[in-house]
Amino acid sequence: MGVGDKMKRVSILGSTGSIGKQALEVIRLHKLSVTALAAHSNIKLLEEQTREFNPKLICIYNDDLYKELKIRLSDVNIRILTGMEGLCEIARFSDTDILLNSVVGMVGLLPTLTAVEAGNTVALANKETLVAGGKLVMELAKKRNVNILPVDSEHSAIFQALQGNDNNEINKVILTASGGPFFNMTKNQLQNVTLEQALNHPNWSMGKKVTIDSSTLMNKGLEFIEAKWLFDLSPNQIEVVVHRQSVVHSAVEYKDYSVIAQMGVPDMKIPIQYALLYPKRTKCPTEKLSLTDYGTLTFEKPDYETFECLRASIKAIELGGAYPCIINAVNEVAVESFIKKKISFLQIGELITDALNHFSFNEINTYDDVIKFDTGAREYAESLI
Ligand code: MG
Repeated sequence: MGVGDKMKRVSILGSTGSIGKQALEVIRLHKLSVTALAAHSNIKLLEEQTREFNPKLICIYNDDLYKELKIRLSDVNIRILTGMEGLCEIARFSDTDILLNSVVGMVGLLPTLTAVEAGNTVALANKETLVAGGKLVMELAKKRNVNILPVDSEHSAIFQALQGNDNNEINKVILTASGGPFFNMTKNQLQNVTLEQALNHPNWSMGKKVTIDSSTLMNKGLEFIEAKWLFDLSPNQIEVVVHRQSVVHSAVEYKDYSVIAQMGVPDMKIPIQYALLYPKRTKCPTEKLSLTDYGTLTFEKPDYETFECLRASIKAIELGGAYPCIINAVNEVAVESFIKKKISFLQIGELITDALNHFSFNEINTYDDVIKFDTGAREYAESLI
């Protein structure tokens, strides 16, 4: 028997990615039950996970691989789904206690909305859900009385620092940033940055997209926008602080100027486990934090001039409406082009700033609005590349 009175049932979208694999480590340790798994295209690992965790449903997003997966698992009695339909069927499946959404990209938004609509608790690790659809998701969650539990280390830290306190007693939140591999470098020095250098993150081991986003500080920009929606803040209540050691994962300053921070070694398994077992705390498959091993913790202001992506993200959420959705879409296209070596490192930020100036203000009221502005922004970015 696992933690709690009855075995918690977990579904995972993105089970073969970095967060998904670490979540399964936590699930293995605490003997939680797995209801459903979904992967983008890694059928070999999805097959292994299926045989180990015995879910009721699985989904392979890439439908070219559907037949092969069926053949591989022909000896197993299981329903196999594919595409967005499959992700959404898992999202609305009632035989589960929590849905971990850890897919990468805009593809994560519709499954989140579907889960919330169906009344399923969501452990959210998909940034785009709140960046592009924050207003829709949070309004629906309120209406349906559904919990959205943050998985990202910073938002988990804020969420943990909020336990036992009231959201309306927040003065501001302090969102910490590692600064990435290019901290303290000038624009001039960043001109010839290679893909390999951008993929070399000092503290965290993550997927490719989020590692590049960390090197441009776009990741912090997206987290800034997510924090606004998750904790119902105004942009001027969020302060970004560069903290090179990634030990303080973020903090909340209250009205009495008391600041409560959450600390730990930089290991995603801690926030993943907190979301999956919430509100329980028990042993986690990670290292202990030794403050004396670190000795010194440092805190600095970010360089908004050099890291254009961060500046543009904050501007986008200040302007509101479709702007966060637009910059997110442009960033996805730009990062993909940088990975394919079609554009330079600095061009990622330039494209985002350009898009911010190019598009006029529009509201987002429906999922179709999100798709419309997302598509328009992608087309615009592609036309510039
Ligand atoms: Mg983070």
